[in-house]
Amino acid sequence: MPKLSSPRRNGHKADATRTARELLVLPSSQLKHKTDHRKATLERAQVLPGEAAHAPMENLVRKLLVEIGENPKREGLVRTPKRVAQAWEFLTSGYHADILEILNGALFNEKYNEMVIVKDIDFYSLCEHHLLPFYGKCHVAYVPNGRVVGLSKIPRIVDVFARRLQVQERMTNEIANTLMEALQPAGVAVVTEARHLCMLMRGVQKQNTVVTNSAVLGLFHEDRACREEFMQLISHRQMG
Ligand SMILES: [Zn+2]
Repeated sequence: MPKLSSPRRNGHKADATRTARELLVLPSSQLKHKTDHRKATLERAQVLPGEAAHAPMENLVRKLLVEIGENPKREGLVRTPKRVAQAWEFLTSGYHADILEILNGALFNEKYNEMVIVKDIDFYSLCEHHLLPFYGKCHVAYVPNGRVVGLSKIPRIVDVFARRLQVQERMTNEIANTLMEALQPAGVAVVTEARHLCMLMRGVQKQNTVVTNSAVLGLFHEDRACREEFMQLISHRQMG
């Protein structure tokens, strides 16, 4: 049973947060991965990169513009289909990410067995019911059981599941289950807080409503004190 209230752990937590923030500013490795994957997909499909690959989605966007009563040939909209196609390729790149590849070389055997927390990981996802964004913060904790992961990998795993069509509950569970499987830790806890534009823009619910979901596995599920400590450590940082 890990000790849950040591100053050392708190120090570690601060490092984790800082590392996560730094990495969110510099996702160059993710971009490389995306490019590699794109190339592989294009090779399989035997099409040339660039215009040709985006053509079907661009045509759909042009049709959509017509359907909403717009003129896709007017100046401001001429390049819109291309931009939308490129944006959607990026926003749904999580479908093609390879978790094993991301974690490759970043798992270390380590006797450290106290709670590791990475909090305030920004994420941007798309609600599968309306294809509108939901976005917010993800907080991840795990208690290692002989194996730790490079902290930079946790925000990347969050991105993998955020960059798909999602429902917040499923995204939260997928992040937790993936870490549980990859790290085989004593426990994993994931909390997501998000604003959903499908609610805010359509006026379905009160403005500024923040939806919170959590997934607690292993020790965090079994041990109430462990769970409560994690919740307390993230509670003063609710989305503003
Ligand atoms: Zn929605």
